[in-house]
Amino acid sequence: MNEEQAFHAVRQSLKKRRFEHTERVVEEAAKLAQRFHVNVEKVRLAAILHDYAKYRPIEEMRRTIKEKGLRTDLLLYGDEILHAFVGAYYVQQELKVNDEDVLTAIKYHTTGRAKMTQVEKVVFLADYIEPGRTFEAVNEVRDWAEKDLDMACFLTLRNTIDFLVKKEIPIYPDTFNAYNDYCLNIK
Ligand code: GDP
Ligand code: FE
Ligand code: FE
Ligand code: FE
Repeated sequence: MNEEQAFHAVRQSLKKRRFEHTERVVEEAAKLAQRFHVNVEKVRLAAILHDYAKYRPIEEMRRTIKEKGLRTDLLLYGDEILHAFVGAYYVQQELKVNDEDVLTAIKYHTTGRAKMTQVEKVVFLADYIEPGRTFEAVNEVRDWAEKDLDMACFLTLRNTIDFLVKKEIPIYPDTFNAYNDYCLNIK
């Protein structure tokens, strides 16, 4: 799957606003990849495909999790996290992408996880700081993203957990595990 084919696939499956978000994530991710010496081709392909499943019917994704033996604890934490995990599965099945680095970057782009790969970190961060995100808390993360990839990911996780707690939304354990991993290991 080359970039042109990947863009074609998401142009079909995403609404216009979401496609424009995807284009910005790709540009942001490519900049971060160059800055931090991460494989740009893998990062760009993962960024293009990261929200591939965003508009799949929730019931279809829930059924896929049960029928295809994906982690069933996903079903307990609200619908927003499904598109990441099920998206990675669909990208592999439907688009025949088999690069593990690309697939895990899609899979963990919403929650993060402990011991993220460099490609995962870049896609996770780019999704959070792309220029279309306008909430106040993103500015500090953008500043750190100029110089320290791990610190920027840590702050993204801290802000996300803070946001979810304030809204009393359940938090998937991978998100806590990612946060703890950085908390315990930064500096
Ligand atoms: P988007 O797909 O580009 O809108 O961005 P994301 O995939 O990063 O996030 C989608 C939504 O998932 C956001 O509203 C996040 O706040 C939410 N989210 C992130 N982490 C978690 C989590 O651990 N649990 C739950 N329930 N939601 C989360
Ligand atoms: Fe997403
Ligand atoms: Fe995100
Ligand atoms: Fe996104």
